[in-house]
Amino acid sequence: MSKDLRVAIIGAGMAGILAAIKLKEFGIKNISIFEKANGVGGTWRDNSYPGLHCDVPSHHYTYSFERNPNWSNFYSSGPEIREYFEGIFVKNKLEQICLFNTEITSLSFKEGLWEITTNKAKTYEADIVIGATGVLHHPYLPDLEGINNFDGYKFHSAKWDHGLSLKEKKVGVIGSGSTGIQIVSALSGQCRHLYHFQRTAQWMMPLENGSFSDEEKLLFQDPKNLSEAMNFEEYFDAVEIYSQALLDKDSIGANEIAFACKENLEKNIHDEVLKKKLTPDHTPLCKRLIWSSDYYPAIQKPECTLITKPIKKITNEGIELLDSNLIDLDVIVFATGFKVDQFLRPIKTFGIDGISLDDYWKEYPKAYLSIAIPKFPNLFLLNGPNGPVGNFSLIDIAEHQMNYILDLIKIIRKRQCHIDVKTDITESYERDRAAAAKKTVWYTGGCTSWYLNAAGIPASWPWTYKDFKKEMSKPDLEAFELIE
Ligand code: NAP
Repeated sequence: MSKDLRVAIIGAGMAGILAAIKLKEFGIKNISIFEKANGVGGTWRDNSYPGLHCDVPSHHYTYSFERNPNWSNFYSSGPEIREYFEGIFVKNKLEQICLFNTEITSLSFKEGLWEITTNKAKTYEADIVIGATGVLHHPYLPDLEGINNFDGYKFHSAKWDHGLSLKEKKVGVIGSGSTGIQIVSALSGQCRHLYHFQRTAQWMMPLENGSFSDEEKLLFQDPKNLSEAMNFEEYFDAVEIYSQALLDKDSIGANEIAFACKENLEKNIHDEVLKKKLTPDHTPLCKRLIWSSDYYPAIQKPECTLITKPIKKITNEGIELLDSNLIDLDVIVFATGFKVDQFLRPIKTFGIDGISLDDYWKEYPKAYLSIAIPKFPNLFLLNGPNGPVGNFSLIDIAEHQMNYILDLIKIIRKRQCHIDVKTDITESYERDRAAAAKKTVWYTGGCTSWYLNAAGIPASWPWTYKDFKKEMSKPDLEAFELIE
């Protein structure tokens, strides 16, 4: 182990930027960020589809140490969030330590060090590796018959083709998750005709997105005023109520959310046939809740059609439905989500005695408290497997995780050691987590979603937000082995 710890961070998205800033503050001098693309911002760099915005209130969707008084809207647009991260990256001079266009291909723990190979000829070494590779990163394209036969344009929502004008086009959007709903809301009325292919209806909470006035932005320059406006108590109470609603579908919060969603549908869709098509058959919150006041008006525009008949195949002309109807299209947008079980992968990762991460994750990805994996010492993950995901700020989640990791790094620095989470503790943690996850609405609510892993178990933190904060407040050192 080198006296000056060398830390490798994988990814220059929200979590990688956070890790670099916190490590610098902590006095670590030798930090490298490996970023496979040529820009920062992760998901906010990759996603640029029309209508993209975040459904966490703008002022709360920031680092706690870098609030932003200048947000334009109550809920920020994708481009503005990307600019926020780019600005912080530059402000902290992270370009000096970031290797762009450098994709890590393998990580091997050898003789007490992490050996890092990349797509470049050079190899690197690190004492500590922090994986900040994101969750929603690898686009998922469904295995639809004929997908490659289509003669028109087709792309995934995370790879938007901005060179293509949709104005005179017949556009099909497949998928009704948060992404598909935002795209349809933005494109309705902007194309020759828009077809929305919905396999499963979604519950929607109304969300009016107002803008902040210049006077308000001026007021928010004073951190005291901004803090007051952010009303932390109310915000975190809402987060806690929401997290309890996920655990107990009969809780007051769950009932209130269900009532608001049903009322939203009832009030805004008047055609009974359309209402039936848009009425989900599962419990609200089973799938990630959609926040939108724009979708119901959008889908009722004359230039927009909701298609609920299942897709049979894709032909050279468009999408053929199971009833053999053909929807003739110029463009198909796949808002079909992401492969969410990748995390560090496709990096080939080998721990103590050459154990492979692919083998350890054969059934599904597991990590102690989402952060540490047994036999992979000094390797820590931000927003790793089974962590809190939901309708709240992943920045806040990553900050708590980073504080926990810093506590471990403190020990590594002091004792010049490796920290390895114990296998039995991890397995027992995962058993408890899986048992609790099976009681949540993600499991009992009668739906499928990206929250479920390959074993059908919700891949998420199945306790409350307060429980998460408590768990992150200090590492339980009994869970770890110190290899000196
Ligand atoms: P998603 O929630 O996984 O939704 C994918 C959609 O594609 C679903 O409607 C799914 O239908 C449909 N689909 C998949 N395969 C299909 C097939 N073969 N035929 C027809 N439909 C198919 O993905 P996403 O919308 O990209 O959202 C992913 C996550 O990103 C969200 O849950 C959220 O965490 C995050 N996000 C957040 C925001 C925000 O802050 N506002 C915005 C966008 C995304 P089924 O439901 O029937 O499976």
